[in-house]
Amino acid sequence: MKKTDIVIIGAGMAGISAAIYLKRANANFVLLEGNLAGGMLNKLKSIENYPGMPKTTGSDILIALMDQLRFNKIDVTYGNVQTILKEGDGFEVVTDVESYDTKAVIVATGVTQAVQTIPGEEKYAGSGVSYCAICDGNFFKGADVAVIGNNNIALEEAIYLGNLAKKLYFICPDEELQGDKNLREKLGNSANIEVKLSSKVEEIVGDDFGVTGVKVNGEILKVAGIFPYVGKKSTSMVLNNLKPEKQGIFIKVDEECCTNIEGLFAAGDIVAKRLKQLVTAAGDGATAATAADNYCKLK
Ligand SMILES: Cc1cc2nc3c(=O)[nH]c(=O)nc-3n(C[C@H](O)[C@H](O)[C@H](O)COP(=O)(O)OP(=O)(O)OC[C@H]3O[C@@H](n4cnc5c(N)ncnc54)[C@H](O)[C@@H]3O)c2cc1C
Repeated sequence: MKKTDIVIIGAGMAGISAAIYLKRANANFVLLEGNLAGGMLNKLKSIENYPGMPKTTGSDILIALMDQLRFNKIDVTYGNVQTILKEGDGFEVVTDVESYDTKAVIVATGVTQAVQTIPGEEKYAGSGVSYCAICDGNFFKGADVAVIGNNNIALEEAIYLGNLAKKLYFICPDEELQGDKNLREKLGNSANIEVKLSSKVEEIVGDDFGVTGVKVNGEILKVAGIFPYVGKKSTSMVLNNLKPEKQGIFIKVDEECCTNIEGLFAAGDIVAKRLKQLVTAAGDGATAATAADNYCKLK
């Protein structure tokens, strides 16, 4: 078993940002990645809201981050974390390759995107099908759009998009809306949002330019954009043993990115927070790193 002070799990924007801050603080740490370094950055085709980079892509940001890791002599260690065990004052982080004995852990594992299940969804992903209203809503200003789902994320995204779109269909597969009461009320009070209950989405349809509509209960609703929220998967299974406090699938943290378990920190999209973006993931990473470093130095 290898010994270290801090293990960062996940080398997406949050984990990489944490690593940069820890290195500069001269901390002893390991940055673990189970798949592709960069996480979601590998998939983002167009980013227009990252400060200082008016128009960029996930791969451009990732190239710059990998350069910064090299410049700071930070290695990404590959290993998929299977579980984390509480061991005395610290933790044992178990990957499929190696185990680590560590004083603190920063979980920065993001969320796994929902499996694309609607016919046409995969074909039109990025051409009218989007999973992030704040990122892509701007492209649908004044257009008709649809949100598919029945949870807080779907409600929040619909309320946000409702302010941009001409008309929004909220397509709910169930007989009644679920989620927070205030969100359901806000949705109901929006004049341009039509809620369609007990609605089965059969197909997303389009042409060479992208989405043109969605087939619901045999009827085609003409829309230019579709936002399906039919199940983001948590990556917090690695925490099954520790059971930190959660809100839905997300981990609750305080303003220092500390969970309710001493020595366990969380950063990025895995955290229960309103705004899940690159800029907040980077901020969380820096905050969690600083808190974890202070925690280790006081131990
Ligand atoms: C369609 C879409 C468009 C978006 N567009 C924008 C945009 O325009 N602007 C913007 O600011 N944000 C955008 N976002 C949001 C942004 O991508 C995320 O907020 C950000 O990438 C989250 O970073 P993260 O480090 O928390 O997670 P991730 O990038 O998901 O990284 C998590 C990492 O952890 C690794 N991991 C997971 N489990 C394990 C494990 N058990 N062991 C080891 N490693 C593990 C994963 O492989 C991954 O590399 C968009 C999101 C989506 C879905």
